[in-house]
Amino acid sequence: MSTRVYIETLGCQMNVSDTERAATGLRKAGYDLIESVENADVVLFNTCSVRERAEQKVFNRIGEVRKLRGRDQPLVGVMGCVAQLEGEAIFDNAGAVNFVAGTQATDRLSSLIERAQSGEAHVLDLAERADGEVWDISPVERHSPYVAFVPIIEGCNKFCSFCIVPYSRGREKSRSAKEIIVEVEKLKDAGYQEIHLIGQNVNSYRPKTQEGLEGFEGATPFARLLRAVAATGVMRVKFTTSFPRDFHPDIVSAIEEYPNLCDWIHLPVQSGSDRILQSMRRGHNAADYLGRVERIRNSQRRLALTSDVIVGFPGETRVDFEATLKLIEQCRYDSLYIFKYSRRSGTPAAKLEGELTTAEMSERFLELEQLQRSLQKEIYADYVGREVSVLAERPSTRSAEDMAGHTTCNKVVNFRGGIETQGKIVNVLITEAKNNSLYGRAC
Ligand code: SAM
Repeated sequence: MSTRVYIETLGCQMNVSDTERAATGLRKAGYDLIESVENADVVLFNTCSVRERAEQKVFNRIGEVRKLRGRDQPLVGVMGCVAQLEGEAIFDNAGAVNFVAGTQATDRLSSLIERAQSGEAHVLDLAERADGEVWDISPVERHSPYVAFVPIIEGCNKFCSFCIVPYSRGREKSRSAKEIIVEVEKLKDAGYQEIHLIGQNVNSYRPKTQEGLEGFEGATPFARLLRAVAATGVMRVKFTTSFPRDFHPDIVSAIEEYPNLCDWIHLPVQSGSDRILQSMRRGHNAADYLGRVERIRNSQRRLALTSDVIVGFPGETRVDFEATLKLIEQCRYDSLYIFKYSRRSGTPAAKLEGELTTAEMSERFLELEQLQRSLQKEIYADYVGREVSVLAERPSTRSAEDMAGHTTCNKVVNFRGGIETQGKIVNVLITEAKNNSLYGRAC
């Protein structure tokens, strides 16, 4: 019988994509990929280290699995960002772990499992990707049959002072445009309706050659790639995350030219205070960011804008926080991810003085959340009575008669419509606005 592997994914879209790639390689090597931890011979955790709590989660989960499996313990592996950062130390922190695979070891997992199966203790691989490795994801491993994540750039060169990503995922490395276009064309032919171009900073995309971009204009390689991907004719193209400093107005022009480039931009601002932005080493100030937002707001299409903010960065005063509140009011985001600052050892910010107390951070978090909720309420209410296009992804978890999916502007919509709509793009008349979703009926 083949070895049964269960992979549990914690973290961002990049991790979801890495899991898809890992599963593809393991299945090719003869492993059986299963959906539950109970019968697995190997349990593999794909981990996130952006915040301390995410990092702690994997150690809690390992404890839970050990308890659940009693005397029948599986082999346990840790892959992803925590694996890359902690390396050898994971074996000290969690005695149950048999192997550790860094962020670039995805294609070597089968040999690491074999080594652990043959009795080798503390198997470790933190090496870089080997030359010639291709991004190969089989359709059966994709997280959805309708929406596909296509990584276009790995790693990060930005070194924001709070962020661990450059250390966990290495330097920026862009995939060839030709390879990306071929993948998108295949996905389109296989019936995928929505493609998400993903990366820590998609708009910093810089391939080694222009191959695949010939015939497509654009002020930056990413703007050219957007036009090239749109020209494949795939129904919907979304992209995330965009880094403000590299956000060229030509991205908005491309969205205006191609209706299948979706009307949604995620542009994390992190703070509204110039002093804090400088200390975060973001490379932009509030005015610069607002200038880029102005182009988005002046677009011929109504573009949804979303963002990330960190509250309680070391040294953040009440005045700094009020600058953030002001910027949030100005930007009127369609949604906002608010994070309490989490000290990440090894980052420059970890050495800064002036950390806020947990109570102070929570207070600011709640205040900002309340402001965003009131702004979002108005934005969502404005959709009532409008028709939107929704990709029906799955039956709704709330009601057996409803389907759930996303608009082109990435809002969640639950709607009255039969299961026969699944996988299709349907027009939905919005009848009700909730805090973080819309409700309507197929029309
Ligand atoms: N590359 C994107 C950028 O910064 O423009 C975002 C990538 S990051 C993985 C996702 C979000 O996590 C960030 O935008 C930030 O708001 C949050 N984050 C990252 N490091 C953090 C930290 N040390 N504490 C709290 N939040 C953090």
